[in-house]
Amino acid sequence: MSAVGARIAAEALSPMLDPGVEAMPREALAALQLARLRTTVQRLRDHVPPIRKRLDDAGVQPSDLRSLDDLDGVPFMQKSDLRDHYPFGLLACPRHALARVHASSGTTGKPTAVAYSRQDLATWSELMARSLATAGARRGDLVHNAHGYGLFTGGLGVHYGAERPGAIVVPVSGGSTERQVALIADLAPRVICATPSYALQIAEVAAKLGADLSRSGLAVGLFGGEPWSEAMRAEIERGLGVVSHDLYGLSEIMGPGVACECDARAGLHGWEDHFLFEVVDPASGRRLPEGEAGELVVTTLTKEALPMLRYRTRDITRLATQRCACGRTHVRILRVAGRNDDMLIVRGVNVYPTQIEAALVGQPGLAPHYLIVVERRGRLDHVTVEVEAQGGFSPERYDELEHAAIHHLKSLLGLTVDVVVRPPGTFERSTGKAVRVRDLRGKLH
Ligand SMILES: [Zn+2]
Repeated sequence: MSAVGARIAAEALSPMLDPGVEAMPREALAALQLARLRTTVQRLRDHVPPIRKRLDDAGVQPSDLRSLDDLDGVPFMQKSDLRDHYPFGLLACPRHALARVHASSGTTGKPTAVAYSRQDLATWSELMARSLATAGARRGDLVHNAHGYGLFTGGLGVHYGAERPGAIVVPVSGGSTERQVALIADLAPRVICATPSYALQIAEVAAKLGADLSRSGLAVGLFGGEPWSEAMRAEIERGLGVVSHDLYGLSEIMGPGVACECDARAGLHGWEDHFLFEVVDPASGRRLPEGEAGELVVTTLTKEALPMLRYRTRDITRLATQRCACGRTHVRILRVAGRNDDMLIVRGVNVYPTQIEAALVGQPGLAPHYLIVVERRGRLDHVTVEVEAQGGFSPERYDELEHAAIHHLKSLLGLTVDVVVRPPGTFERSTGKAVRVRDLRGKLH
C-alpha cells in the first residue's frame, strides 16, 4: 500500500463542508450545470456586446443548448479577449455593482483586469473554504498564508476562504522569509498556503537557520499557482512536515479555489456547481473524450461581473469522473502537467519544465533550484539545464554531478541536454511563481 493509501486507511477522510453539493449525484450536477450554462449565455448576450456578436456569428442561442454536449460548437474565450477589452469591456454588470478588481501586469505585455460583484466574492470565499476543508483544514486552524497580497488573486483569495469557516489567518504574504520561519515556529500554524517554489524556499531558509519545520505543528499544505512535479512535492513535504495538496485556480476564472486535491490525491476536484470543465485538442479546438490529455477549458456558471464562456486556460491535463475514494462526485482534474505556453519543443521532442524538474529533484548532490536555457545553435535547438549543487559539495565534484544528471535526463526524457552545476544560492529565490525557463530562440515556435 502506498504511503498515501496507508494514511487514508489510518485516518478519517476530511469531512465535506457541504455534502449535499460535494457528493451530489452526477446526473443532478449535469442538470444544474445546464440550467446555469443557459443563464450564463443569456447574461453574456444581454450585457456583453462583443460576446453577443460572437454568439450571433456562431448562431448560438441559449435554447440551442439542450445538453452539455451542445457546448462543442460554442465559441471560445481566451486571455487576449481580456487584453483587447481592457479594462472593463467584458463586464456583464454595471460598474457600480462591482466590489473588487484584481489585475495582472501581463508577462507578455498588455495588462488584464478581472472584476467581481459582491456575490462573486461570496462564491469565491465559499469555494476556497470548500477547497481548504477538502485538503484537511478545520475550523480553528491557524493558516499561514504566504501568497502575495495585492493585485495577484492568491493572497486575498486564500484569506477570505480561510476566514469564512472559522480558521484563523496569518496574512504574512510573500517575502521576508526568515521572519516567516520565525512566525511558523512561534505561532505553530497547522496549515500553510504558498506557491510550491516559495514553500520550498521557506523550507530551505528554515534548514539554514537550524529550525526544523517538520516538527513545527504544520500538517496540511495547499500549494498552487504554478505547475510542480511529484519530486518537488516530496521535497516540500520533507522540509515542512506537511501532507501537500495541489490547489488550482486562475484569476481569469476566479482565483485560487477552482479545484483542489482531496486526501486521496487522485486529481483535483473541480467544483462543478460553479464551473464547467472540458478538455480540447489544443490545435483543432475539438472536444476530447474523457481521459485524453489536452487543454483545459473552463466555463463559469454563476459569475455575475465577468462570466467566461469556454475559456482556454492553456493548461494541459486530463479529466476523470469515476467516483473518488473521498465520496465527492465532482470531476477530478489530473494534476496539471504544464502549460501549453511552457511546453518546449526541442528537436521535435515535447517536454515540460516539470518533467525536467522531476528528473533532477532528488538526484544526489543536486538542489531543487534550476533554470532551463533553450537556444538555437546553428539550426538545432539546444538545452542547457543549470542546477544548483547542495551545500557541502566541493566544486571539484561538480563534473561528476553533471555527468550523472546528463545521463539521467537522457534515459528518462530521451533528450540530450547539457547540465551545468552551479554553487548553492546562484539563482534568485522567488516569493511567487518561479522563473524556470529562459528561451532565447525568439518566438518562432
Ligand atoms: Zn476525492
